[in-house]
Amino acid sequence: MLKRILIANRGEIAARIAKTCRQLAIEYVAVYSDADSNAPYLRGATASVHLGSSLATESYLNQSKIIAAAIAQGCDSIHPGYGFLSENATFARAVQEAGLIFIGPRADTIDSLGDKARAKVLMQKAGVPTVPGTVEATEDVDVIIAKTLEMGFPVLLKPTAGGGGKGMQIVRAAPELREAAEQAIRLARANFKDGALLVEKYIENPRHIEVQVFGDQHGNAVHLFERECSLQRRHQKVVEEAPAASISLATAMHLRESAVRGAQAVGYVNAGTFEFIVDSNGDIYFLEVNTRLQVEHPVTEEITGLDLVEWQIRVASGEPLPLAQSQIHQQGHAIECRVYAEDASNDFRPAPGTVIRLEWPSDTRVDAAIEAGNEISPFYDPMIAKLIVRGADRADALVAMQRAVAETIILGTTTNLGFLGKILSDPAVSANDIHTRYLDQNLTRYNRNVGRSAAAACAAAIALPYRTASDDVPSTPWIASTPKAVFDRVTIDPSGVLGRVAYWANGDLLKVAIRDYSAASGAQIGCEGEEFVVTIGSREGGLFRGLLNGQPWSAIQVDGNIEVLAAGDRVVLEPYISRCGSDGVSAGTATAPMPGVVVVVEVTAGDVVTQGTTLVVVEAMKMENRVMAHCDGTVTAVLCRVGDNVGVGDVLVELEPA
Ligand code: ADP
Repeated sequence: MLKRILIANRGEIAARIAKTCRQLAIEYVAVYSDADSNAPYLRGATASVHLGSSLATESYLNQSKIIAAAIAQGCDSIHPGYGFLSENATFARAVQEAGLIFIGPRADTIDSLGDKARAKVLMQKAGVPTVPGTVEATEDVDVIIAKTLEMGFPVLLKPTAGGGGKGMQIVRAAPELREAAEQAIRLARANFKDGALLVEKYIENPRHIEVQVFGDQHGNAVHLFERECSLQRRHQKVVEEAPAASISLATAMHLRESAVRGAQAVGYVNAGTFEFIVDSNGDIYFLEVNTRLQVEHPVTEEITGLDLVEWQIRVASGEPLPLAQSQIHQQGHAIECRVYAEDASNDFRPAPGTVIRLEWPSDTRVDAAIEAGNEISPFYDPMIAKLIVRGADRADALVAMQRAVAETIILGTTTNLGFLGKILSDPAVSANDIHTRYLDQNLTRYNRNVGRSAAAACAAAIALPYRTASDDVPSTPWIASTPKAVFDRVTIDPSGVLGRVAYWANGDLLKVAIRDYSAASGAQIGCEGEEFVVTIGSREGGLFRGLLNGQPWSAIQVDGNIEVLAAGDRVVLEPYISRCGSDGVSAGTATAPMPGVVVVVEVTAGDVVTQGTTLVVVEAMKMENRVMAHCDGTVTAVLCRVGDNVGVGDVLVELEPA
């Protein structure tokens, strides 16, 4: 058995692997970058090693530093987690060459399955159904056109070196083909340094269903059933379930047998995921193998009762698979929701920041990277937690997940909790009538922050006098700390309004009328033509919580503003009076829109620019944000350099408007 593992990752997956190490009484070494020096996953580690600066290339992607740390700390093995170096064959090989065990598949397996074209050929030979199309990737547009015409529309042009759904193009008719192919090649060259494309039949509205497999070093391979991951946004999974309730047992068997056959054909060792798409006829098409533990592995653990990280460690130690196929059973239904620090109402922009209040739901498995007080770093993936529930069946699990999302409180930073809540209450989702493009096609219904007027109503309720159970003295917690005019209390006026309050929310003024109030039934509050019944249940340590039309809400006060979380949407409300004319920057100043790192500076002092010219590019959480000139003018000063860490509102470039 392994004795000391270096966990070459961060965040929730580092914490997840650590948990199993502790259970198995295996020592483990954690690694961290500057940004993670106080991260929760470091606690409890036998030792922790600082790798370098916050840039992933200097830390979690730095192969030699990681291997050197493992050797210096006396580790016998390295667990790569997911992302970062987990599917890097060069790394797996280097780990082995350093005399350590790589907890994952063999390097040559990672190599051969990492290339979509090679993987497809291998699977075809093993008798696994693949998507009709080419198996030889090409950059020759004429070949692509010929293959397409031979096969018929619609087709999908897919970069063979791609990942994360990037750079794929659907082509539906001949006139668009040449241009689409040229563009796809250009994009693939730019993104993956390899322009070669595969041409595949495009399967309309498929489901994404994947099979968890495990192989050991003794030639055994088993499956741990399937997961459905069709709820995706731009090919990024958002909600995952196990089992796949949408398919027949015959289709499920076909998937499982195919995956195990594929795993056996390549002598697969350790955990792997065979990804398929399934069409409405139940026909299955192999897509790719992910040669690592997946983000969504917990749903498989929940229905099988197995610990996949333990299996990975045992297999890497040379033990046979802990169970034979006939001993592996599934029960119930599990759902996972990925909680991202991103703003759904603002094109899902990453939302780094400091978590001020954090409350996880009861009766829910939470695999989290964060704790209250933590800063969500702009350097890495914005996924901050996974909520996982299990129910007797899918309907049961959906109800449990709706409750879990509603009970989660994350304040101080924006998350996708509201987006998740809307997905879970969609009738098409309950009816399981979805496909991989369903979320993208329905985004406009989902990404709106509907909580603004509701949030203002909650904020107003806080301003009301109320009694707590223990304390019979009426108190007005808010009035004391905000200017008097904010709560313009009138005893009873002819319109039946008790009081009026106004708040700024994202530049708009929201006027709130408090119509009625009783300690027993709460406040009746109107805002923007909507009516709400708001109660305050408790206020502990600065956290207010209650019910808004029967649904939980919560709020805190930060820097004189009120932050409300209602239906999962976070709204920051600025009391009307506190706005004192300092708003806005002059047209001649370009500021950072979010915390991040300057990756490109496009101008120098003296440059003449026009409105909309990109001045600087700031990267945060793998997304590039262009900072543009607000007006025509001349650059008078460039106040940042490539590599600088910048905060929201930092002035990057100054212009003399023309
Ligand atoms: P990547 O490695 O970029 O994630 P995949 O081949 O795994 O690429 O495909 C990503 C997603 O794209 C799949 O989950 C599926 O939704 C969609 N997709 C891929 N190939 C096809 C196809 N031939 N027809 C329809 N959808 C496809």
